[in-house]
Amino acid sequence: MQKNSGVIVDSVCEQINSCAACSLCVNGAQKFIGQGDIQAEVMILDLFPIGRDILRQRLYQDKAGKWFLQLLADAGFRRGDLYMTTLVKCPVPKGEMPGKVSLKSCREHLLKQIEVINPEVVITLGESTLKALLPETKKKISVLRGDAISALGRTIIPTYHPTWVLSQAKKLREDELYKDLWRSYELVFPQTKRRKRIKKIPV
Ligand code: SF4
Repeated sequence: MQKNSGVIVDSVCEQINSCAACSLCVNGAQKFIGQGDIQAEVMILDLFPIGRDILRQRLYQDKAGKWFLQLLADAGFRRGDLYMTTLVKCPVPKGEMPGKVSLKSCREHLLKQIEVINPEVVITLGESTLKALLPETKKKISVLRGDAISALGRTIIPTYHPTWVLSQAKKLREDELYKDLWRSYELVFPQTKRRKRIKKIPV
């Protein structure tokens, strides 16, 4: 897909950094805009960052996150293939969910971000993230996961949230998440032989 220049990406970052549209904004506090390659063809979309993610400006640094990063690598992805971000850009207090105003206002930022990064595929993690991105979605994530949904001028692939998967005793959920990541990789890099395949696709 055609890529925009870093200058346009910077202007979206500035808009996000100066935003105070909802109650999650704390004066002077940092926001999380994203990490990874702005030329990437695959965007990983989570719902919101927590304080630690903002401090480090990195997602997935805890146990569940590291496991998820390994799963992405096992499916074939390398660092330069991915851009990771969240729908809500300000930290959400522990144990809370972002409210409707935050989701709606921050979705506008995300739509601009998607437009300028212009990934071919957006992988959404968890039902709340999918429904915040595509509010018209009615079906449950267990029904929609792994589907290639055509929306916003690209392919959206919903899958489970890694933290939820790890909280389940069933190996089936891990296999399903892995399968969805595998499928996403194949959509973007159909001719590419996976560089180092550690795991096989679950059948
Ligand atoms: S959460 Fe989003 S909409 Fe709310 S203040 Fe932060 S950047 Fe703005």
